[in-house]
Amino acid sequence: FDPQRPVPDVRTALPGPAAQEVLSADGAVTSPSLPRAYPLAPRRGWRSTLEDVDGNLFLDFNAGIAVNSTGHAHPTVVRAVQEQAADLLHYSASDFFLPIYSQMCQALADVAPMSDPVRVFLTNSGAEAVEGALKLSRYATGRPYVISFNGAFHGRTYGALSLTASKAKYHKGFGPLLPGVHHVPFADPRIAAEGGRDTGTIDYLENTLFRYDVDPSEVAAIFVEPIQGEGGYIVPADGWMADLRELCDRYGILLVADEVQSGAGRTGKMWAIEHTGVEPDILLSAKGLASGLPLGAFIARASIMESWGVGAHGSTYGGSPVPCAAGLATLQVIREEGLLENATEQGNALLEGLRALQAQHPDTLVDVRGVGLMIGIEFPSGEIAEAVQMAAFERGLLVLEAGENVVRMAPPLVIDRSEVETGLRILAEAVVEVVAR
Ligand code: PMP
Repeated sequence: FDPQRPVPDVRTALPGPAAQEVLSADGAVTSPSLPRAYPLAPRRGWRSTLEDVDGNLFLDFNAGIAVNSTGHAHPTVVRAVQEQAADLLHYSASDFFLPIYSQMCQALADVAPMSDPVRVFLTNSGAEAVEGALKLSRYATGRPYVISFNGAFHGRTYGALSLTASKAKYHKGFGPLLPGVHHVPFADPRIAAEGGRDTGTIDYLENTLFRYDVDPSEVAAIFVEPIQGEGGYIVPADGWMADLRELCDRYGILLVADEVQSGAGRTGKMWAIEHTGVEPDILLSAKGLASGLPLGAFIARASIMESWGVGAHGSTYGGSPVPCAAGLATLQVIREEGLLENATEQGNALLEGLRALQAQHPDTLVDVRGVGLMIGIEFPSGEIAEAVQMAAFERGLLVLEAGENVVRMAPPLVIDRSEVETGLRILAEAVVEVVAR
């Protein structure tokens, strides 16, 4: 991406001729359930740049929705995938001993945010990591109930969907969902912004849910996104997670951190929960873990994972060799290229730039929040957020909505300062255009 490149003249949002072809072919054969944000038809990418089928270049602040952590087509990742593909495409790690499977598990154990020994189970996706952790927490505790948060997103398979509570349309028409799941209020972003102590969640759990509805000694686990993703990039106030940990300890409830979106370096630490000083009992990863190949994981304290026996859980493809090669290469690149430090540095620059923009348009940028390269901008309405997202797209910047009225930024962790500046410049133009309408 050439940072010197002038912001392109406002193009029409209509796709070019090649993209038109892709769109019409797609419209004829794919499921209408797919919620496409704008008519983007990517052909290839490198680092933080994406090129569409018509040759238009975009600065990619989506990273395939927080997936392309090392940027598009990082040579170390590509080489690892090519070499592994030539050696062994697949063998089921559920049934046999694959050296690369245990290497990937060890690499995750080495960076797990738990001081106790851990064990790792590899999956193909975030939702499968959630399903596995859901089964494991019921099995290990012998308890039926599970708690998650309003605004949570944990995936769309039935167990994960039952924990999800970010949009009514995700549940509508699909019930009955998994029994025994309770949703409680998440952290309040306003309190976090003011630097106050946020006791709403604990109050609700103690004084409403546990008093009238559910015996806490029958609760297996609380599933929590340390920074809520699809719900609107919400960062809890300091101390909120520690209070939750304390409550879990008091009742013997497992704390499950869903770091599918916030993990693998996105926030400037390997896991977002590390910013809180809290250790989870189980941690979930996917998305950025393998730079775009399908790989997820649930990592549990060994005493928990060891509670279930042979055949209790398995997966034909989970931790297949090629995704493991990509996962190992991704962790290597994060380490060798200092991507945690870069995420912190560029994230701070991005936040600073957005706060300056907020100062100019305080009625339009209602809130700017985030940690590292997981940044949300709250607008007064969903319509305005969508208009900003479209205006940015037309100028060559890819951003995506989250929640009802938030635009999220989740660029590759390899993004550099000039790309941050270009992104800020394009976003400012998009905001000015939308404000002027
Ligand atoms: N958990 C979280 C926090 C997520 O953000 C997502 C995906 N947006 C999932 C789980 C589900 O992951 P997948 O789409 O890989 O199933």
